[in-house]
Amino acid sequence: MILTVLGSGTSVPHPLRSSSAYWLDASSGTLLLDCSPSAIQRMAELGLDWAGLDAIWVSHFHLDHFGGLAPYLFGVKHAAETRERTKPLKIYGGAGLEELIRKIDDAGGYRLLEQRFAIEVTEVSALEPFEILPGVEAVAMKTPHTDASHAIHIRDGEATMVFTADTGFDTSIAGLAGGVGLFVLECSFVRDKPVELHLELAEAMHLIRRAAPRRAMLTHFYPEWDEIDFAEVVAAFYPPCEVIAAADGLRVEI
Ligand SMILES: [Zn+2]
Ligand SMILES: [Zn+2]
Repeated sequence: MILTVLGSGTSVPHPLRSSSAYWLDASSGTLLLDCSPSAIQRMAELGLDWAGLDAIWVSHFHLDHFGGLAPYLFGVKHAAETRERTKPLKIYGGAGLEELIRKIDDAGGYRLLEQRFAIEVTEVSALEPFEILPGVEAVAMKTPHTDASHAIHIRDGEATMVFTADTGFDTSIAGLAGGVGLFVLECSFVRDKPVELHLELAEAMHLIRRAAPRRAMLTHFYPEWDEIDFAEVVAAFYPPCEVIAAADGLRVEI
């Protein structure tokens, strides 16, 4: 698999970091992990086949992770690039996903789900494996962030990854990520986090140490990270593996 970071930032506007989205090239198709408002433009900017995208994972409904979904559906509905498309677009997320899409749709009368191809919305149950792309197995785990927030484990043959999305500290996430090829963790704050529902560096590093992945990536950086020497603060924790700082446009092979 190859992961391309589309947005390594948060809901706070930032000149270099757009809000949460990651493009995953798997053996049988493409998957968008979170669909932030800026994801649409970033996909086009990076030359990704946004019109042929196979599936979308929505980690939770905060707008820096979900706010691009309706605009994306509106865009592909009217784009010339999807005129020949027949394969369905699959959208996965927690309970309430379909109702939320329908409410947005109804509010503006957009008919987002009426397209030239099928839009299939599936609400997943925590810890029940499902096939997110043909032959690609996923399992979601509830996280302490919102009522509908989930981390996700993805397996494509030998390649494995976990994406925490937004979460508070919970050591069971390390269990989900045990030995994965790439462990993508939010790391909203450097230290003294102002809210319980996100991670700060010491917590993220603790989860990495417990999970012992082959590689880890920290992301979802609030602007306070701008002033920080990433390599220096990470090295202070004697990381057990390579720890990468996410950046918009960064591509990582898993
Ligand atoms: Zn967020
Ligand atoms: Zn959030």
